[in-house]
Amino acid sequence: MKILITGGAGFIGSHVVRRFVLNYPNYQIYNLDALTYAGNLENIADIEEQPNYTFVKGDITDAAFIDNLFQTEQFDGVVHLAAESHVDRSIKDPLAFVKTNVLGTMNLLNAAKSIWEGAYAGKRFYHVSTDEVYGALGAEGLFTETTSYDPNSPYSASKASSDHFVRAYGETYGLPYVITNCSNNYGPNHFPEKLIPLFLNNIIQNKPLPVYGDGNYTRDWLYVIDHARAIDLVFHEGKHAETYNIGGFNEWKNIDLVKLLCAQMDQKLGRPEGASAELITFVKDRPGHDLRYAIDATKIKNELGWEPSVTFEEGLQKTINWYFDNPEWLANVTSGAYQEYYTKQYEED
Ligand code: NAD
Repeated sequence: MKILITGGAGFIGSHVVRRFVLNYPNYQIYNLDALTYAGNLENIADIEEQPNYTFVKGDITDAAFIDNLFQTEQFDGVVHLAAESHVDRSIKDPLAFVKTNVLGTMNLLNAAKSIWEGAYAGKRFYHVSTDEVYGALGAEGLFTETTSYDPNSPYSASKASSDHFVRAYGETYGLPYVITNCSNNYGPNHFPEKLIPLFLNNIIQNKPLPVYGDGNYTRDWLYVIDHARAIDLVFHEGKHAETYNIGGFNEWKNIDLVKLLCAQMDQKLGRPEGASAELITFVKDRPGHDLRYAIDATKIKNELGWEPSVTFEEGLQKTINWYFDNPEWLANVTSGAYQEYYTKQYEED
């Protein structure tokens, strides 16, 4: 089997690529990534010599390139993760999100449809998506697979749109697909523009911890390696034309999460209890900020037997340990372009 994984140099994609390459030596795994600011080959340096692994640098928005790649390689399956993924960036530059997340997905769908030509046995197009497509919840309730889409940010609107196109290609052309919508991930290799690695890095450097609004925004959190396990399972055992929600059964208000992170970091750094929490600063809210996301992951649990393998406290500790064990990774990604972005985002407003 020849499988194309897109976005495999990014945060989640790198864990998925590693899992597929190491667990399935009989598969040929192609990792297609444009290496944007978020793509980093260091994330997968440990597997680059594996005989069943090939890296392809390329852009999913380039239709001719994508067509040619599919015609040459004749992939049997696609696991599509490449995306612009950061909500704050989508507010500043929505069109970039339409290009990559919508047009890029269309190019992959068209290329898959064209090589498979209706002979769909053994083929699969897997779109990795987010729970943010469902919009915001009040204090009660959970997103299920039948919750209506109601995206609020340009990021979630672009992911919702790409989900719809995947489903439409299934309905219209019979393309065999599966979609998963997952809650917030955290763990090793997370780019430090996202909350947990950003704050972890700021605590190390004694910099302020910018918490949006009053800190009451609530998210469900999942350890990234558990997400990769779920993707592996759904790719192999998920039903055609189905959606599965993936979540950690693990809701946290931002402010409580930050306090837990501060407490674990105080211990790790040998600082007095409460020292890191003094860095918490409340900053101007993000426009259109969704109050609460919470996911009901019962379907994947009941139908495929998937559950998170670590508690949040364990996952957070593993994450902190990983960042301490990999200081060069953090130093490399926080230099250059990212520093400029950070200054614009949090220090000039
Ligand atoms: P990421 O930003 O860390 O990685 C995205 C990767 O895609 C990068 O390697 C980047 O170089 C690549 N890429 C971007 N534009 C590209 C293009 N035009 N052509 C080819 N490659 C391109 O993202 P992530 O957090 O790992 O998310 C991966 C996927 O999972 C996304 O589709 C995202 O919507 C989804 N998702 C993320 C989360 C989360 O918490 N991070 C939760 C649910 C779903």
